[in-house]
Parts: sequence; structure tokens; C-alpha cells
Amino acid sequence: MRLSALFGSFTTKIVIPVFAIAAAVSVAVAGILMWSSVEADNVALERQEGLVGLVVSQMQATVAYNQESVTVWDDALNAVRDGSDLEWIDYNMGSWMHTYFGHDAAYILNSTDGLVAAFSVDADTGEGGFAALAGPAAPLIRALRQKMRTGDMEGVGGRFLSPGATDLMVVEGHPAIVSVKPIISDTEEIEQTPGEEYLHIAVRYLDGDFVAELEGDYLFEGMRFAWDEDAGEGEEALPLTAASEEVIGYFIWRPYRPGAAVLSRLAPVLLGFLVLVLVTIATLLLVISQRSRKLAASEARMTFLALHDPLTGLPNRALFDQKLDAALRGVRDVGRKVAVLYLDLDRFKQVNDTLGHPAGDMVIKEFGERLKALTGEGDTVARIGGDEFIVIKPRLRQAKEVETLCERIVATSERPFEIEGHQVFSGVSIGVAFAPAHGAERTELTRKADIALYHAKSAGRGRYAIFGNAMDAMLQTRRDIERDLRLAMGRGDEISIHYQPRYAATDMRITCVEALLRWNHPSKGWISPTVFVPVAEETGLIEALDELVLREACKAAVLWPDVTISVNTSVIELRNPGFAARVADTLSDCGLRPERLEIEVTEGAVSDNIGHCEQNIRALREMGVQIALDDFGTGFSSLGRLKQLQVDRIKIDRSFVQGFGRLSGDEAIVQAMIHLARARGLRTTAEGVETREQSDYLKQVGCDELQGFLFSSPVTLNQIDALLGVKRRTLTVVASVA
Ligand code: C2E
Ligand code: MG
Ligand code: MG
Repeated sequence: MRLSALFGSFTTKIVIPVFAIAAAVSVAVAGILMWSSVEADNVALERQEGLVGLVVSQMQATVAYNQESVTVWDDALNAVRDGSDLEWIDYNMGSWMHTYFGHDAAYILNSTDGLVAAFSVDADTGEGGFAALAGPAAPLIRALRQKMRTGDMEGVGGRFLSPGATDLMVVEGHPAIVSVKPIISDTEEIEQTPGEEYLHIAVRYLDGDFVAELEGDYLFEGMRFAWDEDAGEGEEALPLTAASEEVIGYFIWRPYRPGAAVLSRLAPVLLGFLVLVLVTIATLLLVISQRSRKLAASEARMTFLALHDPLTGLPNRALFDQKLDAALRGVRDVGRKVAVLYLDLDRFKQVNDTLGHPAGDMVIKEFGERLKALTGEGDTVARIGGDEFIVIKPRLRQAKEVETLCERIVATSERPFEIEGHQVFSGVSIGVAFAPAHGAERTELTRKADIALYHAKSAGRGRYAIFGNAMDAMLQTRRDIERDLRLAMGRGDEISIHYQPRYAATDMRITCVEALLRWNHPSKGWISPTVFVPVAEETGLIEALDELVLREACKAAVLWPDVTISVNTSVIELRNPGFAARVADTLSDCGLRPERLEIEVTEGAVSDNIGHCEQNIRALREMGVQIALDDFGTGFSSLGRLKQLQVDRIKIDRSFVQGFGRLSGDEAIVQAMIHLARARGLRTTAEGVETREQSDYLKQVGCDELQGFLFSSPVTLNQIDALLGVKRRTLTVVASVA
């Protein structure tokens, strides 16, 4: 859809404008060419018309010039005056001129304009022949005599020896040049009265030869003379005008059109060029369109990758943010209800650790698919972290729908995942928050769903919890604890250590003392380590706390006679690569033998194979430090795994001891634990012994050590020193850790 829209916009934004510009340029170029060809033709036509005019006027001058070869000649003057030798006159002044100069007629007039001699290519050479010319030529004759009389020498000089008069007119049905010249003496020895000279009239027709000459010599194609200007297709008519502006007739010819000629030659070349340009543009556009299509496809892919998780193909956090924002707009604008389900796979870390990351990936992928199958069309399923998913239900009708969905999700997560021939069991915990009930803002709603998730997990996993304000209050309390703990650690007078002895079951001698943290809050009083230790673990404060307990406990223990000091250590601390070395430093600083120190670790630490727990435990044991597995039985370590555990002792959790006498059969469990531990060479301590019966039973089944309120609750350093019969000169005060 988006691609086709993009391609459509490519057509409208690029293809059409480019071709429109190409068409406009082509039309403009063609227009300019046509215009210049017409202009060139017009210029050429003007020149041709000018040329015809020039040839005619040159012909007029030539006729007059030719006349002078006989009119400025004593012999001719004498001959015409005498008038007897008409043959001489006719030969020299008529036919000779016809032969050499192509004149068509010649007439000689005496001083009173009487015809002396006549010559014509037409038959009529007498008075009748001249009669037709006499009228039209009269103004010329008059003008010449006037010139002669007044001695007007205009036009004389250069090639002309005598004045003359010439004009165009129709003679004997021909357009003709008529030129009149006086017959004068070339030696100037024969006197004549000015204005009364004999005159020679030459006639040259402008059709026939002249037209053929124009066509042949001057390349006027199809040149002809016509009385009217009806030119044919592609012909031009040029009027032949007498001095009086009277139009005599027309020269008609097919003018040479250079523009049209150039255009006709240029057109195929231009057309070819245009086609080439269009083909090039089309090819370029095709390439560009293919490139932009590829670009659009890769852009779409990039956008998809930017907004989706590559493993599951589900929306990632960025897209989840957008989707939830959109859903929340629906809450604000049209009063919809939205549910956000925050999911976290249970035991996923174990899957990764035991079967490897590719198996973990397959579980995630499969779980994503199962989730997708359970959700509706408009719902969003996003993967926002390693094993964390979020479902958005943007149009919720009733809360019940979500509860049903959660139950289904939990059920589907409990179905085994078939991974490389293994059946993997996982499970999921879900936290739910509703908009607008719990907030209408993305971060707040997600945070509340996360809090609900935290509660679902703490309540035992494999379940869902819907956000309640009490949860928020608990979270707030945790935050208060964190803040106050930081302050307490900075001051140093609120935090102290109490010591609880452990007794040998055989002779009830104190064999070991466990150091336990105590916090006396200024307003809340004593706060249990079960409350603040997890907060310290989450916030990273545990490192400093454990370090403090270790140092103080070791210092205290130096004075005790052959009693082990037992210190609790968080798994966070055990994962620290430098932990074993730090313990060694503390021991040497305090001067305590490593054999006198026992580190209590939880089951999480011994089953952790990612951090450095295993290396730390091994290094500590090699040093001589003993390792006890605290709260044994509450985690997931099975009795069968006892052999593999790198520990010296197990501390049976007090919940078992306190379960004695009930139907659950904890006695049998504890007995089995002790027997198995012994068989594996491990020693045992029972925690939380509160009654004589418990103590007796534990002794009976062979427990090595007993610890509990029955013998002693945790006490101050002074009190434990007293119990051990030790006198300390200066009191060890717990130092500030800041
Ligand atoms: P834990 O290591 O199992 O310590 C034994 C807990 O049982 C102590 O609680 C102790 O006061 C209590 N207890 C001892 N005898 C009896 C009895 O007869 N009945 C009953 N009901 N309880 C008994 P406490 O001191 O509140 O410590 C709780 C937990 O906090 C400890 O459990 C330990 O896991 C943790 N903790 C205490 N001090 C430290 C510390 O310095 N570092 C770390 N990381 N954890 C500590
Ligand atoms: Mg302990
Ligand atoms: Mg314990």
C-alpha cells in the first residue's frame, strides 16, 4: 500500500513534470526553428525581390549605355540629318543593336519629333508601329528635350556621355524598357540647337529573353511575366512599376526558401535527437524509479527493523511506546478502557544456563507465537526485553476479559516447549494495570503493570496480579527504606551487628557464632534484615554492608577461643570477581586464620553458573575458609544434588524444624537431609531450634550443630564476649561505611 503510494507519487512528482518539461522544451525548440526558418525565408524573399528590381534597373541603365555606342557618333548624326541612307541607319542603329544588345525596337526622331527611321523585331516598322509608342513615350521625349535645352547634365559622367530619359511601359503588348537618347557629335564639331537634337528611342522587352535570363543567370526558379498577380502555390508576385508608380505587370517565380530547406534537412536530425533525449530520459527515470523502489523497500525494511524485535518479529519497545500512546489517546478522547499486561517468563534464566542461548531464543520465539494466538486483532503484543513481553488491549469492555486472557496465557506458558528433543518448562508471571483507573500516561501505566508483575513474582510465580494501590505503597516503602539505609550507612550509629552462637549437638559447647546485621531506625525502630537486605541487594548497597559485617565480625572473632565466625554473604557479592581476594585481605588485616571463618551462601549462589560464584567459592575453600549452605531446603537444590555442591555444611532451614510435630512429616525430611549430608561428607546445622523436643529429635537423628532461641537469640558483642568468657579492652564500635 505504502509502496504503491510512493510509486504513484513518483509518477506525479517526477515522471509527469520531467516529460512535461521535455515536451515544452521540444515545442519551444521546434517553434524557434519554424520561426527562424520563416524569418530566413522572408529575408531571402526580400533579397530576391530587391535583386529583380536591381536587375531591371541595371537593364534600364544598360539599354541607355548601349544606345550611346551609336548616338554619340558624328557618322550617325550626319546619317540621320541627311536621311538618305536608310539602309545604313537601319543596319547601324537598329538591327545591329538588336543583334548585339538584344534591343527589340529602335526609333529615330528628328528635331520636331518626326519619325526618321524605325526598327522593330515586330513586323510593323512604320508610322503605325511608332504610333503605339508615341503616346506613352511622349513624356520621356519631352523631358529629354527640356534637359538638352537647359543643359541639364544630371547623370552624365562616368560611363554616360549624354543625358537620357528612361521608363518602363507597355509596348506592343510587351512590358518594356523605353530609353531615349539624343544623337550627338562625338567630336563636338557638329553644332546643334539644344533641345532640337535628333533622338534615338530604344525598346527592350521585359518578357521573353529577359525572363529566361532572370531564370537562367539569377536562378529565379519558374520565373514568368504575368499581367495580374495571381501567383500559384509557393510562388511570389513582384509588381513591375513605372516611374509614375503605375503597375505594368508582375514577375512571378517560385522563390528560393533557405529556411524551409534547412528545416526540412534539420527536421529528421532533430526528431532523431529528440527521440534519443526522450529515450535517455525514460531510461533514467526507469533506473531512478527502480532505485527509489529498492530504496523504499529497504527503508520499509529498516523501519520494520527499527520498530520490531528481530527474533520474534513482534513490535519492540519503540513501537510499543507508540501503540500505547495511541491507545491512551483513545482513553482521553473517547473514554475507552485500556489494559496493559506486563509479562515475564519464569525460570527463563535456567533455560538459558542449562540448554544454552539458542534454546532460550527458541522458547522466546515459541512463547511469542503462543501469545499472538491468544490475543485479538487490535491487541498489541510487544517484546520489550530478554524474557519480557507486554500485551496492550486498547478497547477493553470488562476487566473479566483480561482475567480470562491472563489465565489462558499462564496456562499456555505451562505447556512444555519442545526444544531440540527436550521438553522445557517455563511459566509466566503477569502484572496488569488498567487505564484510566490506574493512570492515563504511558510511563505511569507501564510502571504500575511492572509493580503488579513484581508482586505476581513474589507471590510465587506462574500467576497474574492486577495493580492495586497497596502495591504502590509497598514500593514506596521500599524506596523509603533505600533512602534511609543510605543515610544510616553514612552515619554509622544505626547499624550494628548481633551475634548468635551455634552449639555442638553432642556436648552443647559453642562451636561457632553467626554475625547478623541489625538496623535501629530512628523513627521505625528495629528493622529486620529480611526487609532491608533485599532492598540493599537491589540497590547495590549490599556490597558495603557485607564488607562491613565481614570486617567487624573477623575483628571480634580474633579474641574468641577456637570458635568459628560465620558471616552471611549475598549472592550479589559472591558474583564479584574480586570477592575471594578481598576476604583474604580482611583475614590477614584482622589476623584471623581462614579456617576460623565460615561464609554462609544461599542456594542461588551455588547453582549460579554465570557470575564468578563458583570460582569465588572454590578459591575460598582452597584458602581454608568453610562454606555453609544457608536456608537449605527452601530453594530448588534437591537432596540428590548435595554431592555436587561445593560446600562444607548445610544449614537446615528453620521452617523444617518448626514443622516438627505437624502432619507434614518434616521430621522425616530433616532426618533424610542429615543422613544424606553425612553420607556425602557434609556437616549439618539446624536453624531455629526453639523447643527442647526439637533439640532432642535433632540430636537423636545425628544433627551436628544446633542454633536457635532455645539456646540463645542473637546478642550484642558484649554479651557474646561474656558467653565465651572473653574480656575485651576497647569496645568494637561499628564504623561508618560511608
Ligand atoms: P539467616 O542467615 O538464616 O539467619 C538466621 C535468622 O533466623 C536470623 O534472623 C535469626 O535472628 C533468626 N533466628 C535464629 N534463631 C531463631 C529461632 O529460634 N526462631 C526464629 N523464629 N528465628 C530464629 P535475622 O537476623 O532477622 O536475619 C534474617 C536473614 O537476613 C538471615 O537469615 C540472612 O539471610 C540475612 N542476613 C542477616 N545478616 C546478614 C548479613 O550481614 N549479610 C547478608 N547478606 N544477609 C544477612
Ligand atoms: Mg545465616
Ligand atoms: Mg538461615
